[in-house]
Amino acid sequence: MAVQPEVEHPKKAFGWAARDTSGVLSPFQFSRRETGEKDVAFKVLYCGICHSDLHMVKNEWGNSIYPLVPGHEVAGEVTEVGSKVTKFKVGDRVGVGCMVGSCHSCQSCGDDLENYCPKVILTYSVKNIDGTITYGGYSDTMVCEEHFVIRIPDALSLEAAAPLLCAGITVYSPLKYFGLDKPGLHIGVVGLGGLGHMAVKFAKAFGANVTVISTSPNKKKEAIEHLGADSFVVSREQDQMQALMGTFDGIIDTVSAQHPLVPLLALVKNHGKFVMVGAPEKPLEVPAFSIIAGRKTISGSMIGGIKETQEMIDFAAKHCVKPDIEIIAVDYVNTAMERLLKADVKYRFVIDIGNTLKASS
Ligand SMILES: [Zn+2]
Ligand SMILES: [Zn+2]
Repeated sequence: MAVQPEVEHPKKAFGWAARDTSGVLSPFQFSRRETGEKDVAFKVLYCGICHSDLHMVKNEWGNSIYPLVPGHEVAGEVTEVGSKVTKFKVGDRVGVGCMVGSCHSCQSCGDDLENYCPKVILTYSVKNIDGTITYGGYSDTMVCEEHFVIRIPDALSLEAAAPLLCAGITVYSPLKYFGLDKPGLHIGVVGLGGLGHMAVKFAKAFGANVTVISTSPNKKKEAIEHLGADSFVVSREQDQMQALMGTFDGIIDTVSAQHPLVPLLALVKNHGKFVMVGAPEKPLEVPAFSIIAGRKTISGSMIGGIKETQEMIDFAAKHCVKPDIEIIAVDYVNTAMERLLKADVKYRFVIDIGNTLKASS
């Protein structure tokens, strides 16, 4: 039996954890490591609820380790820095996204793509270098290697910055990498949840003509009037889809449920890019002709490197790209999870950790 979470490290910590596959979260005493020479310690003030958290608390991907403290959209204020930390000081506004470590020596790490490092250490529910399990941001404090800490610009509130650290970078990175960040391009966004609404906002900020592709006609008004999309198409309406065939330079598909790709690939121009950022459980079904005719590219993308995450958040601050959030108290988190499962949130829950997480509860 491993050392108990409360005493495995010297610093007391408190958060909310799931204990089993029911996914129900409840108060949890644990501990954090001492601030190492290259570490930044910070007080967590806000943490976004990502759809991954929902999968992880219920072990739906089969790799959850309990007790599990979720949260990889973490924002707060620095309380302590190690002696070799150069980028941060006490009082700085910072955030941590999906990663807290990597090998620093592989090709991906050398290319500032720690997210693709084979030894990447995720923010929660994985084994850290010291053998202990990582705990995420549904907690009062965090300690993280300086390299994985993001500076939050003054123009962004911490609660708005938090969801950018996963949802934001997940859509920003493929738009940049696949050259879909140029003004005037026609960009499609499939699905209008946490990721999709950020994809619309970033693509608009890049100057694209943005079309939302959705199964729900009732999202049209919201997509156009509120999020600023240029047009909206209902994917089940063949006439609407037919009219848009071969018109998209790129499509970002944010949907994690099973859905047909062939009608979406037909919307892409010759040489266009179709990028998956959602993760349906079953393998994709793609007849070869839907990509060889027109030399179309299907690709995938997963979060982004640390350098690009900083670039993304600086861009978001400069261009006023912010997620739409609903701020909740920590004791609402189980209800929030149930609502998230029903897509009943516009568009991201953010837990007000600073004001509502009390160690005595
Ligand atoms: Zn996430
Ligand atoms: Zn590496």
